[in-house]
Amino acid sequence: MSQKNGLYQNNVYMLAERFFIQDEAETLKLHAHKYNFDILFYSKMESFIFAMLGANDGDLFVVDLDVLHNHQSGEQNRSMFLRDLLKPLPENHQYIYLETEKQSSRYLLQKMLLDTNCLAYAEKPFSSEDLVDNLFNLFAQRKRDDQGKVLFLGESIQFDESLFSQHNIFVKHHDTFQTLHTEVKRWLPDVVVVESTMFSGAESIAEIVQKNIATDPSLEIIFLQTEVDTALSESAIDAGFDVIMMHQTNHITTSQIINRINKIRTNKNLISRDRATGLLNKIGYKKRAQERIYEAEKSAVPLAVVIFDIDKFKTINDTWGHHFGDIVIKRLSMFLGQFLEDKALLSRFGGEEFVMLFWDVDHDKVIAKLNEMREGFNAIEFEIAPGQFKRFSISGGVAFYPHCKSENTLFLQADAALYKAKTGGRNQICE
Ligand code: GH3
Ligand code: MG
Ligand code: MG
Repeated sequence: MSQKNGLYQNNVYMLAERFFIQDEAETLKLHAHKYNFDILFYSKMESFIFAMLGANDGDLFVVDLDVLHNHQSGEQNRSMFLRDLLKPLPENHQYIYLETEKQSSRYLLQKMLLDTNCLAYAEKPFSSEDLVDNLFNLFAQRKRDDQGKVLFLGESIQFDESLFSQHNIFVKHHDTFQTLHTEVKRWLPDVVVVESTMFSGAESIAEIVQKNIATDPSLEIIFLQTEVDTALSESAIDAGFDVIMMHQTNHITTSQIINRINKIRTNKNLISRDRATGLLNKIGYKKRAQERIYEAEKSAVPLAVVIFDIDKFKTINDTWGHHFGDIVIKRLSMFLGQFLEDKALLSRFGGEEFVMLFWDVDHDKVIAKLNEMREGFNAIEFEIAPGQFKRFSISGGVAFYPHCKSENTLFLQADAALYKAKTGGRNQICE
């Protein structure tokens, strides 16, 4: 049976018999909880495999090769043991292997791990904090929910469109360099690809795109060259292109762009989420909100943006401690998550402040829903001492699109409304 308790977003299933890992179990769990995942420990292969049956899609599986020690009987070949250990691991999952420095120095052993559904390996010793940090990075890498976007200025090169779509990457063809920078601003691609045949007359395009103060600094501008021409490569790199890519086959070019976008997406994911709650942070929210507003404008859809802030939170911290305050924040983030519908956004904007965006709203219905959220949170009983309960409240300020036109004005308006809610007595929604 799965031990998932529903408190955390993901689980790490860990097979580790003794020594380092099990001794550190409590510390590892505590660190993991801050990042919104839990670690479940198993010391027997059978129970590990059985527990994996109840795992969810996003979960991770860790195998500490130290389990080998308990089975070793000197005279036999160690890699035979490793092979036996790895054999029963179900093939429909990938694994993170923890190994000793000695194990990791052996090339053949490494190769055997790679051949056995290896997602990653880690060399001991490491601190609990480092292991949890690295596991969190793997979670972030696997989150490929965001669409990748390629803006292409070119005429002759074809991409492998089906390979792109397998990776959830969308290509938009643009036919003139004059408006390329405005399209970058509106559509927010991850990479811009300019075919070398378009370079003549468009020499400044890379710089024009990059010097725009609003351009995402992680945007890559690729110069895609159709034939070897060193002088042209020199001019392109001097003109501000990030990468010179030589086109050989559609497959190679498409795969290279996919690899680059995957790295860019991973980095964006790491910086756009709040580690404690797993929600979008300010950076992640702002980018997605801009995309939603762009979409809403095209299809004339009304939006609402609300800022929620916990009332008298300083008192909560001061009276029951910072750790208790953190729990209130996590409970609120989980509570608000229940109200997330398709295309809505939920972010932890800062300390105890949450920003949400609702898609295709009706004014009265959204106000009613916000009040339902406010009252719902107010009904949650927190145990401040054994058998002693306390309830807390939130205030909210809301603003509407198209009444407010941009992400920034929506936020400012909602913030002004929140101020009104606070000064008007708290535990209320204002607009
Ligand atoms: P108000 O009703 O006017 O909102 O009063 P307040 O006390 O909630 O005031 P304010 O919103 O300014 O207080 C925010 C406090 O939240 C200040 C800061 O110490 C605390 N805080 C910020 N981030 C965290 C966090 O991650 N955990 C905990 N426990 N406290 C935090
Ligand atoms: Mg507050
Ligand atoms: Mg606040």
